[in-house]
Amino acid sequence: MPAVTLRLKPGREKSLLRRHPWIFSGAVQEVEGEPVSGGTVDLLSSDRQFLARAAYSPSSQIRARAWTFEEEPVDREFFRKRIRSAIQSRDALHLKPGTDSYRLIYAESDGIPGLIVDRYGDVLVLQSLTAGSEFWKETIADLVLEETGLSTIYERSDADVRELEGLPPRSGILRDSEDLPNHEPRIANIVITEYGMKFNVNLQSGHKTGSYLDQRENRLRVRELANDKDVLDCFCYTGGFTVNALAGGARSVLSIDSSAEALRLCQENVTLNRLPTEKHTPLEGDVFQLLRKFRDENRSFDMVILDPPKFAPTAAQAERAARGYKDINLLSFKLLRPGGILVTFSCSGGIDAGLFQKIVAGAALDASVEAQILEHLFQGADHPVSLHFPEGAYLKGLVCYKRGQ
Ligand code: SAH
Repeated sequence: MPAVTLRLKPGREKSLLRRHPWIFSGAVQEVEGEPVSGGTVDLLSSDRQFLARAAYSPSSQIRARAWTFEEEPVDREFFRKRIRSAIQSRDALHLKPGTDSYRLIYAESDGIPGLIVDRYGDVLVLQSLTAGSEFWKETIADLVLEETGLSTIYERSDADVRELEGLPPRSGILRDSEDLPNHEPRIANIVITEYGMKFNVNLQSGHKTGSYLDQRENRLRVRELANDKDVLDCFCYTGGFTVNALAGGARSVLSIDSSAEALRLCQENVTLNRLPTEKHTPLEGDVFQLLRKFRDENRSFDMVILDPPKFAPTAAQAERAARGYKDINLLSFKLLRPGGILVTFSCSGGIDAGLFQKIVAGAALDASVEAQILEHLFQGADHPVSLHFPEGAYLKGLVCYKRGQ
C-alpha cells in the first residue's frame, strides 16, 4: 500500500466512481505524504474511502490519472497484464491480411494513461505523454518487447502536451537488437503496408508517431468510392488518401498540402505503388486560399477530401475551429458536381461528432446545397474507445452526397 494519498473534496469522487480516470487539481482537498512525479498514489474520497490507485502529475492540471480502481499493486506484473490485454484486443480485430501497422496500445482506452505504442511493421514506436507513463517507461518498454517478441522500439515523446506535465521532449532509439548497431537510417525509411498499399514512413520526423494510422479504414473507403472520379485531396500529407483514390480508379487526383516535403513524399508513395503518375497533380499551397481560387475559376470535382490538422485540441478553441471547418466545407460543397461526394474529417478533441455534423450542415446550408450523410466515419478499431473515457474518440468524419438538381 503506497504511503501517499490524495484526499478529494466532498462530491468530487463521482467521476472516479464512473471509472473516468482523471482527477483535476481543483478536486484535491489534501495531499498526505510526499508524492514523486509519476509515482503511485491512492485516491480517497473525503470520508477516506479508497477510490483508485493513480499516477501523480505535479505540474499538470490533471493532477492524477488512475491506473486501477482496485486495491491491487501497481508493479511490473500489473503492466504486463495491461499490455497483454491490449495485444489481445488487437488480435481480436483480425486486421485483414496486407496490413502490418496499427496502434498496439492506446493510452486511457487500454488502461495505461499517457502511453501510446504503435506498430510499424517490425518496429514499435512508443510515445510517453504523462508523468505516470514516464515513470514506468523503461519497464513498459521491456515488457512490450517480451510480449510482442519484437526487438526495436523508437521513442517519439516529442508531443507538445508533455510540456504540461513538465517533461522535456525526447526522441531516439529506446531498445534495439544488438546485431543492428546502425539503426537510425532504418528508422527514417520504413515501408509499411495498409490493405495492400505501401507507404514510406519516416519514424524520426513523420507526424504523430510517424504516420496517421487512425485513417486506415477511411482510406480504404475512399478507394472503394473513387472509381472514375476527379478527386481533390486537401491536406494530403504523404498521400494516404491520394494513393487509395488512385488505386480505386480515380480519373484524376489533385493533392494539396502546404508542406513541400509532404508533397514530395506523397509523389514518392504514388510511384511506390506503381500507380499512374500522369493522373496525379501535387500542388503546394494553402487550402483555404486554393479552394477560393478554384471557386472563382469555376472548377469542379466529383470527390473532395478534407482531412485538416487539429484546429481545436481542446474545447476552449472550439469556436474559432468551427469557423475554419465551416469555411472549408462550404467551399468544398460549392466545388462538388451534383452527385459528388464530400469526405470530411475533424480530429479535434474539442469538437465532438454532433457539433461537427452541425458545422457541416451549416456549411451545406450556406452553400445552398442539398446534401445527405451516406456514412459516419471514425478512427480505426485499433484506436478503441473505453466506455468510461469518451475523450478517446477524437476522429470523426462524414461521407456526404451532394444531390443532383
Ligand atoms: N490526410 C493525411 C493527414 C493530414 S495531416 C493522411 O491521411 O495521412 C494535415 C496536413 O495538413 C499536414 O500535412 C499539413 O502540412 C497540412 N496543412 C496544414 N495546414 C494547411 C493549410 N492551411 N493548407 C494546406 N495544407 C495544410
